[in-house]
Amino acid sequence: MTHRVHNFNAGPAALPLQVLEEVQAELLDFKGTGMSILESSHRGKEYEAVHNDAQKLIAELMGFSLDEYKVLFLGGGASTQFFQVPQNLLGAGRKADYVNTGSWSEKAIKEAKRFGDVALAYDCKAMGGYNHIPPAAQLQMRPDATYLHITTNNTIEGTQFHAFPTPPAGVPLVADMSSDFLWRKFDVKPFGLIYAGAQKNLGPAGVTIVIIRNDLLARCADSLPTMCSYKKHAEENSLYNTPPVFAIYMSMKVLQWLKKLGGLEEMLKRNLEKAKHLYETIDATPAFFKAPVRKDGRSLMNVVWRLPTEALEEQFVKEAKAAGLVGLKGHRSVGGLRASIYNAVPLESVKALTGFMGEFLKKHG
Ligand code: PMP
Repeated sequence: MTHRVHNFNAGPAALPLQVLEEVQAELLDFKGTGMSILESSHRGKEYEAVHNDAQKLIAELMGFSLDEYKVLFLGGGASTQFFQVPQNLLGAGRKADYVNTGSWSEKAIKEAKRFGDVALAYDCKAMGGYNHIPPAAQLQMRPDATYLHITTNNTIEGTQFHAFPTPPAGVPLVADMSSDFLWRKFDVKPFGLIYAGAQKNLGPAGVTIVIIRNDLLARCADSLPTMCSYKKHAEENSLYNTPPVFAIYMSMKVLQWLKKLGGLEEMLKRNLEKAKHLYETIDATPAFFKAPVRKDGRSLMNVVWRLPTEALEEQFVKEAKAAGLVGLKGHRSVGGLRASIYNAVPLESVKALTGFMGEFLKKHG
């Protein structure tokens, strides 16, 4: 038996064991080609099928039509989208509203300001900190904005939108869904553009998914460097240059795994159960496990908590690792503890964690 740990890494993160095994089995000979997909031409029919299947599965699982939206596979991580979105959609006379819910939103805002008039519809930092999601009624949105940008899940701070804001009529939502892509089904219609780095809830690092609605695509700038242009990537079906073939192939395998399990309805059920289990354990002993996030804004993907002292937090990470539970250290910018419980993390791993938390409490509480 291969040694596998309970993996709570924030990204790159756990991948389904079944997918890893399938990929391993296909690595020397992909579908009788006598080579791996890593060694195949991105213009060949084998790779083309993988590429198109991945697009179809994303559309099918999320419930949108490929006649209405394009699915692009781009490089550069979600961080590249922080500038590529405004580079394509803003420009002279255009404005965008951004909701600042955490460090990743801050980075998106900083880049957007290079390309146009950017205003904050709500700034969590100025309203008590990154421990909550803005109440819908408090968003200040401009009716003539080109888009409203949100970060649906804040990987570092452990907050998540449970209901999306409703922008003024005609203003599309643009969302960074890097850390909660495909965790449940939702109505895609209000979204003009969704982007997500694959390495959390979808696959390995190396590919960023950009889902863009045709009307927004039509509004994109024409005179951009080719590799920056959504229009060009859409025209060429993300094959203008060599796409990150291995990351797309593995993502496709994860999408197949998701579909086989029962799609996003089943995933939501599993994710709710995992998060409930973990938050109940945290809430049961508030004098020891302290949850910094307001209850109505808690993330079901990245669960954060503190212990009474930083020394105990360090001890927790050390003892957890020795017990086969890895990736529990909070992001370096905020400290504390964090368990990322994305789609591929099974309930058994969460139960192993809560069991360990109980033991740790007995010993140190
Ligand atoms: N947005 C969010 C919400 C993230 O969690 C991350 C990565 N942790 C990023 C953007 C940046 O992604 P990348 O490293 O792929 O550029």
